[in-house]
Amino acid sequence: MSNKKLTTATGSPVADDNNSISVGEHGSLTFDNHYTFEKLAHFNRERIPERVVHARGTGAYGTFTVTRSLKDKTIASFLQTIGQKTEVFARFSTVGGGQDSSDYARDPRGFALKFYTDEGNYDMVGNNTPVFFLRDAIKFPDFIHSQKKDPRTNLPNPAAIYEFWANHPQSLHQLTILMSDRGIPASYRNMHGFSSHTYSFWNEQGQRFWFKWHFKSNQGIKCLSNDEAAATSPVGAQQDLVEAIDQGDYPSWTAKVQIMTEDEAQDYKINPFDLTKVWPHADFPLIEVGQLELNRNVDNYFAETEQACFAPSNLVPGIGVSPDKMLQGRLLAYQDAHRYRVGANANQLPVNAAKCPVNHYQRDGAMAGDCPVHGDSNVQDSGVNYYPNDQINSGAPSPVSFVEEPAMPILENAWVKRYSTDGDDHYSQAGDLFRLMNESQKDQLTTTIAEGLVQATESVQHRMLIQFGKADIDYAARVKSIMETTK
Ligand code: NDP
Repeated sequence: MSNKKLTTATGSPVADDNNSISVGEHGSLTFDNHYTFEKLAHFNRERIPERVVHARGTGAYGTFTVTRSLKDKTIASFLQTIGQKTEVFARFSTVGGGQDSSDYARDPRGFALKFYTDEGNYDMVGNNTPVFFLRDAIKFPDFIHSQKKDPRTNLPNPAAIYEFWANHPQSLHQLTILMSDRGIPASYRNMHGFSSHTYSFWNEQGQRFWFKWHFKSNQGIKCLSNDEAAATSPVGAQQDLVEAIDQGDYPSWTAKVQIMTEDEAQDYKINPFDLTKVWPHADFPLIEVGQLELNRNVDNYFAETEQACFAPSNLVPGIGVSPDKMLQGRLLAYQDAHRYRVGANANQLPVNAAKCPVNHYQRDGAMAGDCPVHGDSNVQDSGVNYYPNDQINSGAPSPVSFVEEPAMPILENAWVKRYSTDGDDHYSQAGDLFRLMNESQKDQLTTTIAEGLVQATESVQHRMLIQFGKADIDYAARVKSIMETTK
């Protein structure tokens, strides 16, 4: 018999955990079954709302090590010195499916990192693709509705998926990546990670540089075909990551950045803040800056991975955002999702809590406790809860003006209004990628597209073929010819 007493949630010893109290051996339960009721009531509340996107994911802890100082570009304290190490929590995910969907959908993969720096948490909330389907956050709910299940049948609807893409040529570049041989990563260890968005660094002299993150898998790229994916365990990617780390086979990525000066951005042929486009390597080469290694599994999936709250707005001094219109929408949407799913005090949970002191004047809200990680934080103390105040000299926090981001220039003579991007070049970079592919890759890409597109209406097929043709005549010809044999 164990020495550890079974108790209620409030610590009272429990006499029997198998039998409820009843009126006679065969009679009804009585109202003094408060322990049974406590169990049932808590069970009903075991789930929090799953993420609308990126619901199915896997997390692990690790270390980021600097291999090239970025001191000349940023004051970010975790990027200053070669050899400097920062603890990280990573979460990988699919996008469209629910919590218990397959790890092996043809779908982008989330690649989110939380750096626990000594000046607060910095989150890099990226994907395994360098671009995205959209360049303005206003389109995101429409896009996701079209890609998830049909509202009547609750089934995937390829016709709706392609209808969205036919109406949004800006998606063509990402669609080409998604339908390519890299569309289904064999594991989370065998894919790259990208910030995709452009962010900014700023240094001690107040100079700003635009930059993008690239995390290149040291395990190499490995992907599955549609048939291989269908034959693979739906939990395979999660299992692969957990087992590799348990066995000490720690996955790692080489961290690189592309950097563009403000002057270069003014005249560059591509809008550097357009999330549907990459910065070609020939113009902005990758600069290696660090190594990311994952080396510790979570102790509790729900407490850590499910409640992990990543947000592109979690920034540290020396790193800022950019005018990317998708990124700007995410600055609102991610924190908002966490407040809804996890609560106003989500950042007090151990996986989300900063590992440096946290001092502010926000108070109360559901589940307000104190910062569990650092005793010297004042997250929920009873001292002064307004600013400015007369207690600054006796420990009340005050702003630190030298971490103010330099003023951001407006890059054009701007009017406040809606700007259509319908006339933009949606096609060149999709064509560049197509032309990089060998015969077998082109074959796989166009077959996967044709198999989905034949299920769409004729009008959608027609508009999609025009898009492929604008990227590369051969791209359209191949899709058309396979569709004709598939019909
Ligand atoms: P480069 O020839 O310098 O680089 C091509 C890049 O494409 C490499 O990073 C390669 O990754 C990657 N790649 C190859 N096949 C695929 C695929 N099926 N899906 C996604 N990525 C793939 O060319 P550019 O920089 O001039 O870009 C040309 C095209 O390459 C772009 O239009 C874009 O589609 C793609 N690309 C560009 C990236 C960038 O940041 N410039 C990043 C990723 C893709 P790897 O090194 O692992 O083989």
